[in-house]
Amino acid sequence: MKVGFIGLGIMGKPMAMNLLKAGYELTVFDFNQAVFAEVAAAGAKEAASGQKVAEQTDVVITMLPNSPNVSSALFADNGIAAGLTAGQTVIDMSSISPVASKQFAQRLQDDYQVDFLDAPVSGGEPGAIDGSIAIMVGGQQRVFDKFKELFDVLGGSATLVGGVGAGNITKLANQMIVAINIAAVSEAYSLAKKANVDPESVYHAIRGGLAGSAVMEQKSAKILAGDFEPGFRVELHIKDLQNALDTGHEITVSTPFTALAMEVMQSLKAYGLEKKTIVRLLITMK
Ligand code: NAD
Repeated sequence: MKVGFIGLGIMGKPMAMNLLKAGYELTVFDFNQAVFAEVAAAGAKEAASGQKVAEQTDVVITMLPNSPNVSSALFADNGIAAGLTAGQTVIDMSSISPVASKQFAQRLQDDYQVDFLDAPVSGGEPGAIDGSIAIMVGGQQRVFDKFKELFDVLGGSATLVGGVGAGNITKLANQMIVAINIAAVSEAYSLAKKANVDPESVYHAIRGGLAGSAVMEQKSAKILAGDFEPGFRVELHIKDLQNALDTGHEITVSTPFTALAMEVMQSLKAYGLEKKTIVRLLITMK
């Protein structure tokens, strides 16, 4: 199977490297020329545009920041769509709006007879490097089955959760739970600190009870050390929470705690901290 890969950023580059290691013939494209060297050294072919990638491959994977980036990668001049032929597949692994995923799938099917899966991931850069990311897929069973082996190279688990868009709905659910949970853990540690109770002792006392969580386990060390380096940048939280709020409003679901977490992220951005990680409440830990 000839695979195209577009978007060689924090996540895309290690994912592309894993496909190469597994023996897939890979053709890649990114706006940023600087990112090619490593994947080219590992055997990837560099294409001059999304169109060229699509012309030379059976399936095109995209790993881009947000819906407008995917839209332009697909449909702008020299974009992927210009090089597609009927029977090919596009798999978008970016975390984007589920509404946009459905629009892309419809247009690709109607105008190009091309299948589409939305397949966002969770697990971050370490998971992308060691191939353990969780992949949540929306689309048809027939298409999912065709690419199950490829998903197994990229991640530790791939789950078909429903039709096109369901992958990104699942990812939004994931991001809502993570962001609100990080805020709750941070706020509680801040309270303990200001009350002169060692937050680390609080962590050890409560981690085995109902308040314990994967967020508490994975983030406490950084929170307690006042380490704000990403990880997952505040600006990406903002993108995901905006997509969650927009989707909720579109289908008339009220998500007040997501809105609150979003405002905390916005205040971090207002302080110029959008390239850093986690929430403003942590600043009070210092
Ligand atoms: P990134 O900004 O590091 O990489 C994006 C890459 O896409 C860049 O190299 C950029 O040059 C390229 N690009 C943008 N538009 C393009 C276009 N039209 N054509 C070709 N290349 C284009 O982003 P990332 O951290 O790798 O995240 C990618 C997606 O994965 C996002 O949706 C993000 O929310 C999601 N995600 C990220 C993480 C994480 O920890 N970073 C974890 C899970 C999911």
